[in-house]
Amino acid sequence: MVDAKAIRDKVNKKINSPRSKISSNLPSHKHCRMCGIEIDVKTDPRICKNEECVTKLEKQSKQDKMMRIMFFIFFIAIVAPVALQLFGFGR
Ligand SMILES: [Zn+2]
Repeated sequence: MVDAKAIRDKVNKKINSPRSKISSNLPSHKHCRMCGIEIDVKTDPRICKNEECVTKLEKQSKQDKMMRIMFFIFFIAIVAPVALQLFGFGR
């Protein structure tokens, strides 16, 4: 038979162990999106002050912009003909 009290004691010990206490008391922090280093929570954008990371983020945001434009063009190219057909054009 399973000793319920022993299990409860074990669980309680786990909860009260110093290790879990430390993790619960850890101050909130963020990690740099590029190198993963710990940074201040209020930092915006979420990167450290490392020049390499700043450059990387710039590159990434530029790529994001391009992707958005490409998606927009793609969307127009697909939707416009269908929309025109729906409205009776191109017949
Ligand atoms: Zn960084």
